[in-house]
Amino acid sequence: MLDEAIRKAVGERLWNARQIRILSHMRPDGDAIGSMLGLGLCLTAAGKTVQMVLTDGVPYTFRHLQGADLITKKPGEKVDLVVSLDCSDLGRLGDVLNDSGVPEINIDHHITNTNFGALNLVDPEAVATAALLTECLPDWGFTISQEAAAALMNGLVSDSLGFRTSNMNSKALRLAANLMEAGANLPEIYNQALLRRSYTAARYWGAGLLRMQREDRIVWTSLTLEDRQTVEYNGNDDADLINILSTIDDFDIALIFIEQRGGKVKVSWRSSPGVDVSQLAVSFGGGGHPAAAGAEITGTMEEVQQQVLTATRSALATGTIPENQG
Ligand code: 5GP
Ligand code: MN
Repeated sequence: MLDEAIRKAVGERLWNARQIRILSHMRPDGDAIGSMLGLGLCLTAAGKTVQMVLTDGVPYTFRHLQGADLITKKPGEKVDLVVSLDCSDLGRLGDVLNDSGVPEINIDHHITNTNFGALNLVDPEAVATAALLTECLPDWGFTISQEAAAALMNGLVSDSLGFRTSNMNSKALRLAANLMEAGANLPEIYNQALLRRSYTAARYWGAGLLRMQREDRIVWTSLTLEDRQTVEYNGNDDADLINILSTIDDFDIALIFIEQRGGKVKVSWRSSPGVDVSQLAVSFGGGGHPAAAGAEITGTMEEVQQQVLTATRSALATGTIPENQG
């Protein structure tokens, strides 16, 4: 089906359904939450019964968003439509599929999306899934309320790191303007999503920054379970430290290794324009975008660091990292 036909079919299917469950990926980020609330609030306003389910719940940073308290960790009663948002593959949804099977609608912007749905609305040129939704919702006939606009703006601002990622385009700015006109408070959302940090998160950054290393064109660091315990940081993520690492001058790739329970390590890659790390992440069972990708890898910190650094070095050296044309 052509893109236009898929868009139309998705809109029709959303209107036809009565009970809709919306899912997104584990360790949800601002786009996962923003897209979920944006679509969820629009569907609710249109008279649908909506479940919003995230296996890891809503992180502290996004709990202030209107409707965030409606998001549950487990699916509710049977529904007649399941929609996946901002999620590149089924495994990333976590343990939320129960009765429903594979989501029928898959709306996303990851280039690594596996097109697992019956209707796959996947646009890798969209800077955020929330941007794609901001474009489609009015065409489908849904009204974006102030609360939905705030949520969608949260997604757009988060994934574009405040309109500065290399995939940024004029369309995204126009969509942001539409959201402002619908009542989204850009400065407040920008501050909350990207700048404000808890004291413990800043101390956690400190642990990671002290351990930072570099080699040729790569800069990296790690965060351990012990670091989190020491500073009393409650998440299992890097508190966005990778975005600080990736602002350091004169590197092609920034990497972070975050120790997880159960003998796993979460890895995040960030690259300078022209270097594509998405396939490197895919080779470790993960995925993402050309300039920002991640994977969760089984092994000790030392093992995973060795494997990932070796693969990253050799990909850079042999130039097997494809050029990012975007
Ligand atoms: P982050 O490194 O901030 O977790 O994620 C960067 C990008 O890579 C995001 O778009 C995210 O969805 C994707 N990503 C991160 N971890 C994984 C993973 O384990 N699997 C897949 N498929 N994508 C991931
Ligand atoms: Mn996204």
